[in-house]
Amino acid sequence: MRKKFTFQFLLIGIILAVIVTTLSLYNLRNTNLKSSIQHAQIIAKVVKSGLTSHMINGNMNQVDTFINSVAGMKNIEELWLIRSELVKKQFGKEELRNPKDAIDKEAIKTGQLKYQINETFTKTSIRVTVPYISTIENGIDCNKCHNVQYGETLGAVSLKMDISDIKQIGLEITYLIPFLILLTIFLIIILARKNSEHYILVLDKLAKSIKLAIAGRFKEIPHESSKTNEVDALIDDYNKLMSTFRDTSLDIEKRLQKFIGQKANSSHINPLEKSKDIIKNLSNLYQFKKEIELDNSKSEIYDRLAQVFKNQFSIKNFAFFEIDYTKEKMSIIKIVGNALYCKDNITEDPELCRCARTKNDVVSVDYHASCPYFKKDDKFHYCLNVEISQNRYLIINFVCDTKIQLEELKDKISFVKSYINEATPSIEVKILMNALQESAFEDGLTGLYNRRFLDEHSKKLIPQTKRENLNIGVLLLDMDHFKAVNDEYGHDIGDKVLKELARILNETVRESDLIIRYGGEEFIVLLVGVNSEEDALNVAKKIAKKVRENEIDVYAGNKLKKTVSIGLSMFPQDSNSLEGVIKNADIALYEAKNSGRDKVVKFHESQITSVDLF
Ligand code: GH3
Ligand code: MG
Ligand code: MG
Repeated sequence: MRKKFTFQFLLIGIILAVIVTTLSLYNLRNTNLKSSIQHAQIIAKVVKSGLTSHMINGNMNQVDTFINSVAGMKNIEELWLIRSELVKKQFGKEELRNPKDAIDKEAIKTGQLKYQINETFTKTSIRVTVPYISTIENGIDCNKCHNVQYGETLGAVSLKMDISDIKQIGLEITYLIPFLILLTIFLIIILARKNSEHYILVLDKLAKSIKLAIAGRFKEIPHESSKTNEVDALIDDYNKLMSTFRDTSLDIEKRLQKFIGQKANSSHINPLEKSKDIIKNLSNLYQFKKEIELDNSKSEIYDRLAQVFKNQFSIKNFAFFEIDYTKEKMSIIKIVGNALYCKDNITEDPELCRCARTKNDVVSVDYHASCPYFKKDDKFHYCLNVEISQNRYLIINFVCDTKIQLEELKDKISFVKSYINEATPSIEVKILMNALQESAFEDGLTGLYNRRFLDEHSKKLIPQTKRENLNIGVLLLDMDHFKAVNDEYGHDIGDKVLKELARILNETVRESDLIIRYGGEEFIVLLVGVNSEEDALNVAKKIAKKVRENEIDVYAGNKLKKTVSIGLSMFPQDSNSLEGVIKNADIALYEAKNSGRDKVVKFHESQITSVDLF
């Protein structure tokens, strides 16, 4: 700071000295010129008076002696006279009095003083021509002797003078000026520095301390042996400000960190900036919490969480897994980014996932191959395990392209976790709601859908099937002589027979078909999107065959074989409503029973009339 101050002052001094010197030189030149011309005019006047008196006294033959004596004066190098044409006409042409150069000619022609300065490195001279004009001056009338008009040029005196002396004196004075200016400036600097040294020192310290404060380190500055009370008071106030800043910002940071569950790790970061970050995150988190409370399904919550990871934390690749320990099942919920970087068989057994097994964060930074099921050697992972409910866990696998990205993720992981922690209770609620809904639609004995499900589902299924122009083959199955099983072997075996039928149905129809326990030992299979009645008939026959051939263990090595009767009706060919088609299938089933059981019968209009209801 001090150096800058001195430099600026010196610069001003130099500029000032240059300006003043230039002005002085300009002034000097003008003054020199004026005084040289005046000098020449005086000499011209002297010569003129001399000439006049020589003329009046009639001794013009001694003019040259007079001229030579004037020319011998100090600094005059040359002096000569010129006669104008008018005078030459009157007194005859004297060769010596002719104009010598252009200046002479110009002065005679114009009747005005003409001059020229000649400067070399060592010498300066002036060449002046002063014209004589015909006048009446001091009682002397020029026209007494000359036959000219007043105002006309009679002649001129020309001279060359060495003016180096005058210039030298001026220059010496001019050289002194910048020296004096610089000397003054130098003295001012020394004095100013002496007086301001203390202030500058304090300012330096303040500047350094403020720089540290911007970076988050609020430090007091020590007192100097100060001569002024104002400086002492300033330092005191500044130190108070710093200690208040430090205590308050640390306190805010500590409280906020407690609130968000984050450890104070990077003390070099400005605590105020950090608090600002935490508050921003808290406000986003609060917003996020409000949003997920209104979300309808579990997948909406996962989508929202994925949005936060992508937009707020710039994480590009990650996958959500859910583990259900009651079913020993690990399922992929959502993959965001390029691909799943865990080996494909990870979902076979939750124990394979290191993060699931240890229930701890698994990070690849320290030991790259920390999880053998992470398949990319050139990538890095951060895996989290979060408990959703007693037997359910959420695993999140974050994948980073570089180690730097992973380090950045580690820095912000507590914020990331705070979002996950907010989301998990809502995920749990959605899972419970799903389970509840599923149990309401599930048949407890066989695990198949129940009649309630059919009622609910048909509201969506039928319009959709109509829209897409699809067929549904409706099979209504009834176990033949089932009552006899109960009577002979008891209800447990009866239940077993029903479960066996459910198994056969599950194994025979497509995943997209729906199997419903319609009541007791009656089942409905909806063959959704079946191509033709013939295809539906074939599926029904396949079921009947499998049931017929299936042997059920009863007791003591005894085997039981059962049969089913099946009524088939087609939607929308046989009826425009599902109830109508089921009713028709029931009519066909009735015929199957009547015609000896273990049969598949397709509905025909004719059957309606032949149904014996009583
Ligand atoms: P049919 O060939 O005419 O169909 O003869 P069926 O004996 O199967 O006919 P019925 O409809 O009279 O018998 C149905 C029996 O199924 C009566 C009921 O006790 C039995 N049942 C209904 N639900 C269950 C169940 O969940 N478990 C067991 N074990 N039996 C059931
Ligand atoms: Mg029955
Ligand atoms: Mg029956």
